Amino acid sequence: MRKKIIAGNWKMNLTPDQASTLVRETWEEIQGIDGVDVVVCPPFICIPTVREILDEYSINMHLGAQNMHWEESGAYTGEISPVMLKFYGVSHVIIGHSERRQYFGETDQAVNRKVLSALSHDLTPIMCVGESLKERDDGHTKDVVVAQVKRGLFEVMKDVVRRVVIAYEPIWAIGTGKAASAEDAQEVASLIREVLSEIYDEDTSREIRIQYGGSVSPENISDFMSMPDIDGALVGGASIKSESYATLVRLA
Ligand code: PEP
Repeated sequence: MRKKIIAGNWKMNLTPDQASTLVRETWEEIQGIDGVDVVVCPPFICIPTVREILDEYSINMHLGAQNMHWEESGAYTGEISPVMLKFYGVSHVIIGHSERRQYFGETDQAVNRKVLSALSHDLTPIMCVGESLKERDDGHTKDVVVAQVKRGLFEVMKDVVRRVVIAYEPIWAIGTGKAASAEDAQEVASLIREVLSEIYDEDTSREIRIQYGGSVSPENISDFMSMPDIDGALVGGASIKSESYATLVRLA
């Protein structure tokens, strides 16, 4: 039985004081809810503050980052390493978000290096895959997603791949208010599971959690959650308001 996982990607929003308020307010609304992994991924600069709040109020949420470099240290101006994330008790890291691929030139090879590095530092990678509108219109959704999964997981061994979370995020659905239909998302999630079976085996594939991401809201989350291969959501806009994020967690 795969545990549901809801992860909030705050993107480049909120200052540390706003982050602290959001986490406390969300916790007030979801305290006592069991059976869902709740992850918050603030901007790097908010991570120390969020860590303090989680500890001070014994808040049962996981702390995530939105990106990381694959090296532990070195001459990489502006980057953050897995060791730095671990220092603050970060447990999850979003890797290969489409905004990183699109605006910062992140390639499948970089995604793969980051996934391998995250796993070797005992961080849970949330590896994002998904097609653009043009790729979808041209009928290439499946090829694109399969290639991204295979390349992203290159040389990831069977004994650790179970810890990877894969987020299927069609780019055209991110931040647009136009979510994929639950049936279409399920079709791709099921395809991802087939690919995982091919690379590893069926048991391993069955254990890996697959999220849907792209305009998830309190209105549509139940549709996604009722699909057999969708185990949670990666959420942008609806994760930076305590009321909507708490509702998503509750419905999941
Ligand atoms: C995201 O940032 O990964 C995302 C899915 O954003 P939104 O929920 O706003 O579409």
